[in-house]
Amino acid sequence: MTTFWLECLDCGHKNTYLPLENACTSCGSQWREARYDLQRVARLWPGVLKDRPFDLWRYHELLPLKNPSRIPSIGEGGTPLYQPLQLRMMLGLDYLFIKDERQGPTRSFKDRQASVSVNSLREFELDQAVVCSTGNVAIAYSSFCARAGIRLWAFLTSLVPGEKMREVAVYGTEVIKVTGTYDQAKLLAAQFAEERHYYLDRGVRSIPALESMKTVAFEIAEQLGSRQAGGSDSGKPARWRSPDWYIQAVSGGIGPLGVLKGFIELKEAGLVDRIPAVAAIQAEGCAPMVAAWKQDLDHAVPVAEPATHIITLTTGDPGRAYSLLRERMLQNSGGAMESVSDEEAVRALHMVAKMEGLSIEPAAAVAFAGLFKLIREGVIRHDQTVVLNCSGHTLPVESKLLPSGWLQDIELGSFELPERPRDGLIAALRSLDRDHPSKVLVIDDQKEARRLIRRVMEAQGNFEVFEAGSALEALDALNQELPDLIILDLMMPEMDGFELLENLKRIEKTQEIPIIVVTAKELSAEEWSRIGDQVEILLTKGDFLSDDLLDEIAKILT
Ligand SMILES: *Cc1c(COP(=O)(O)O)cnc(C)c1O
Ligand SMILES: [Zn+2]
Repeated sequence: MTTFWLECLDCGHKNTYLPLENACTSCGSQWREARYDLQRVARLWPGVLKDRPFDLWRYHELLPLKNPSRIPSIGEGGTPLYQPLQLRMMLGLDYLFIKDERQGPTRSFKDRQASVSVNSLREFELDQAVVCSTGNVAIAYSSFCARAGIRLWAFLTSLVPGEKMREVAVYGTEVIKVTGTYDQAKLLAAQFAEERHYYLDRGVRSIPALESMKTVAFEIAEQLGSRQAGGSDSGKPARWRSPDWYIQAVSGGIGPLGVLKGFIELKEAGLVDRIPAVAAIQAEGCAPMVAAWKQDLDHAVPVAEPATHIITLTTGDPGRAYSLLRERMLQNSGGAMESVSDEEAVRALHMVAKMEGLSIEPAAAVAFAGLFKLIREGVIRHDQTVVLNCSGHTLPVESKLLPSGWLQDIELGSFELPERPRDGLIAALRSLDRDHPSKVLVIDDQKEARRLIRRVMEAQGNFEVFEAGSALEALDALNQELPDLIILDLMMPEMDGFELLENLKRIEKTQEIPIIVVTAKELSAEEWSRIGDQVEILLTKGDFLSDDLLDEIAKILT
């Protein structure tokens, strides 16, 4: 049995938790938090966790439920943490990890919120609940309420994609579509819940909702710790470990606030030695937190009319959640708040899908685009450990994400099928080759690096890429066929890039081919003079993002 109590953030009054009591009984404040006996957890967890299943209930001693009997899990929590291989190389970030919340039962970290909340409702035998959502909370609650036999009322703004609304309805939820902003819909939902005495999920101010997010922190610390233990000092018992950064796209702020609370509790229990910096990324068209953070304000100025297509992130008025998040960040490791445009997010979405094979939703792409930006700005350093919260339904919004011509359509009926139909098919397929791809020769002694550049180019443009693993191989390849562009690594064994460059400029038929040079380090003055003005651009390895590379290439080839 878990013991926990509520503590008022304004007057310190302690009380027991009741789901329909929304304010401190002493001062009326709506801002209260759950407290636990952390010393008990410090003693207990190191011994018992290894025998528990890897889902969010393994941490039940720090979740606000008294009763250990629950609705059987459908796999909420316990998501994998892994390294994105190509992005790591592109960003030059050796310790980048993705917390893959797409793998929850309804594909976002809101599964945790719904699971803990719905189990709490069951504990109090409540059978009606209300949410107001931009999509993902409503979908997650719908699933868990259906399982628990709780009737759910979901207030959704009319901007929520129709596919997401239908998904909510499929679970039997009462869907109320509100034509207005998310903040307006929230007010309406609150009135409705109050009149009927139904439980309303009030985001950061709802105890089970906020507490559920701590499990993201617990899992990350355990997963990072076990990776370390498996390394050089394997054999020692697994240690828990915090990353340097936790990065997430932010709307109402429940994720970063809950995750921070999780790390704070772990530190108080002595299980980790520090608390990560938080990077909260918002969409430019609705970035009240970022604006306030950059002006060093402790209150956010509401955005009355959000101007972003990324509906998941349209909390215009974060209220005190911002002040609290800022305060907690400043009390601990600090961090950053940054915004990105919808366009940057969509580009990041494509890059993550094409480079890593991960289909994410635009809101999660905002976090990736923010990561790219913070690395470019030098805020996140190359030697730091970064964990990015990745959620997502891509499919409901896909129709708006792909350029026209994304699909190559073969209508067999329109072909004159020859005697041997296979020839016809092959011919048809060949005709699909887009006209005149640009030929690119990539010269690098590292296979990984060659594959990365090849993948970046093939994913983003009409390129045919050839590879050479040494200067000699390159000269050989150039004898067979001349490319439109050469991408050259300077540091290679035997004949290095400098010498090859000099050769290429001497040979008449290769003289005119534009060359992009990629280097792993800053060049000395002498090296600069050897390159001279023969090179179109110089890119530092690990530092380039494919966008930059492709923009440069496009300029050179046109
Ligand atoms: C809810 C959600 C967010 C916003 O997170 P908050 O913690 O509520 O600010 C970001 N991305 C995805 C995919 C979400 O579902
Ligand atoms: Zn109080």
